[in-house]
Amino acid sequence: KLTDDQFLNDQEAAVEKSLRPQTLQQYIGQDRVKNELRVYIKAALDRQEALDHVLLYGPPGLGKTTLALVIAHELNVNLRSTTGPSIEKAGDLVAILSELQAGDVLFIDEIHRLPKSIEEILYSAMEDFYIDIIVGQGSDAHAVHYPLPPFTLIGATTRAGQLSAPLRSRFGIVEHMNFYTEAELTTIIQRSAQVLAVVVSDEGAHELARRSRGTPRVANRLLKRVRDFAQVENQEQIDQKLAASSLDQLQVDDHGLDQTDRKLLTMMIELYQGGPLGLKTMAVNLGEEQETIEAVNEPYLLQQGFLKRTPRGRVVTPKAYEHLGIPFPKGE
Ligand code: ADP
Repeated sequence: KLTDDQFLNDQEAAVEKSLRPQTLQQYIGQDRVKNELRVYIKAALDRQEALDHVLLYGPPGLGKTTLALVIAHELNVNLRSTTGPSIEKAGDLVAILSELQAGDVLFIDEIHRLPKSIEEILYSAMEDFYIDIIVGQGSDAHAVHYPLPPFTLIGATTRAGQLSAPLRSRFGIVEHMNFYTEAELTTIIQRSAQVLAVVVSDEGAHELARRSRGTPRVANRLLKRVRDFAQVENQEQIDQKLAASSLDQLQVDDHGLDQTDRKLLTMMIELYQGGPLGLKTMAVNLGEEQETIEAVNEPYLLQQGFLKRTPRGRVVTPKAYEHLGIPFPKGE
């Protein structure tokens, strides 16, 4: 529980928290995922067992962390949260695991970035709820056997392909998160607007949704920025016009592409005649991390049909030329 002081210092974090849905009922979209989870959660509760381990994968900002919180809430258990790269030593993992109570959820974000040695310790923890670790060195070295309470590991990753096969196979429930529809994002924006106490017209919410690249995190971010525009321009309500003009100023275009997306497509067209191009070349030319392009930009551009994957690499589609106002070269 936050004290009042922490609450004031941490207001931004608190707003962030209040934007998060708590129950499956409040969690908008991802219907297939929700329907499956509802069954598994009910079955686990009926059997009074820990829920099987869950792997959630999909682009950032689609609600994986939120869903982990919802699952723990629905199971009525505690959630411990950590990230793959922050677990460096076996001891770090042991410290986390030893605090778990029966049935608890352990959430590991960016689970594909767990060090290999830690991953291997996790295998027996997931499968049989124990860990064996080596303590001491040389002739003093001996194995210590730690039994663990049954728990649920929820792993989140932006790309399931980055996970090793042995780790992946230990998740009984694997769920792929999809981009949200405009209608779902409109609902999310309207709910967030209530939490933030801003008035948004239906058309305003829809304009924001259209440009949120299918992603609730982006939708909430854009809503906050447009709220600033409304405040400075003394407008009581975010309507379609204000949403559109603010987002134009923020360089978010009417397909939701941001500057990096457009830079990526333009670069591919101007320097490489539209491709095919490898991920590495894309990253080098943009000065971005390969992982960012692969996890953030590419999935949305593929989904929107601006990029296509071919065996020889990524290719810019005629739709992207048209969107950018660049004539599509004939005879190709
Ligand atoms: P991820 O872990 O996939 O990167 P998060 O769970 O952190 O994404 O979600 C990002 C933001 O979007 C959060 O602030 C959350 O409130 C909001 N959000 C995500 N999914 C939903 C949803 N289904 N309904 C409402 N809000 C959502």
